[in-house]
Amino acid sequence: MYPERSLVARPDAVRAAAQSPVRFGFHPGAFDLEHIRRLMKRQPGSTSILHLMVRRMRNSVRSISVMPSIMRNIQYSHSSLDRNPKSPKTRVDDKFLGELESYAKTLGIGAVGYTKLPRNLIFRDLAVLYDNAIVLTMEMNAKKIDRAPSEETQAMIFETYDSLGIASNRLADFLRERGYAAQASHPLGGPVLYPPLAELAGLGWHGRHGLLITPEFGPRVRLTAIYVNIENLPTDTENRHAWIQEFCSTCGLCVDNCPPNAIFSEPIVHEGNSLTHMDVEKCLPYFAEYYGCTICIKVCPFSKGRFEQIKKRFHEGRS
Ligand code: SF4
Ligand code: SF4
Repeated sequence: MYPERSLVARPDAVRAAAQSPVRFGFHPGAFDLEHIRRLMKRQPGSTSILHLMVRRMRNSVRSISVMPSIMRNIQYSHSSLDRNPKSPKTRVDDKFLGELESYAKTLGIGAVGYTKLPRNLIFRDLAVLYDNAIVLTMEMNAKKIDRAPSEETQAMIFETYDSLGIASNRLADFLRERGYAAQASHPLGGPVLYPPLAELAGLGWHGRHGLLITPEFGPRVRLTAIYVNIENLPTDTENRHAWIQEFCSTCGLCVDNCPPNAIFSEPIVHEGNSLTHMDVEKCLPYFAEYYGCTICIKVCPFSKGRFEQIKKRFHEGRS
């Protein structure tokens, strides 16, 4: 189910750090029964594990139509590693990156960023082959987010996962054909915690809901990354979006509107400065019951496409 696990044994793998997070099982079919058992104890009105799972499947009828494609692309991101060149090139120029980004746009990618991958963002017990990351965003449809929670919203989210997974594999193939080594990862259940990786790549800043807020689409994005052997990606350590943190402290709409009160007022700070923004054991039962919920994205003011206006008003208010 997790093809990345087999990479851990490779001598050239980049492995998780001791304080890396554990990947939670939103991966299709990867619900952990013990975990569900614990959740059921906390959910009055639900009588059995089967009850929750049957309801979850009923709610997902439209979404599961893209599951075969999602599974195929998860598998391909692993099997295609055999196609990496034996003696890959290690350097790129601006012209090549321009071509890569233009191709990415044709595949529906919203933004492309570059960063070094810190080992503490690789999920525990997993590994990747290269620690240079090309991070990708893809927009989720605004009108369908506005209808959350609904079957239509959930179906659109899964379609976005699928489109982004396909795009990630195509871009990895594009890199291989031009002489680079690449490992695509799927947006649904990849080996790395994507929001902080995307933040390091300068693509946005985390909101109180823990999701990446981007200038293009706010938190209405899905994220993924391609890990490459390219040594001179244009990484930038300065993030222009850090002001969002202060804006969030005056907003709180996601915290106030989360039906099971799953979003913490203040994130929990762990060793190594990683953050936990919400209680997954409160979110998951609601998420499973109500079409993947998504209310925290829907209510976020940045989802309405007013990033520059919000930014301008925020900075005016401070001057
Ligand atoms: S998905 Fe729903 S339940 Fe989960 S944190 Fe967001 S608003 Fe809360
Ligand atoms: S809803 Fe408000 S507090 Fe929550 S992430 Fe969006 S801007 Fe920040």
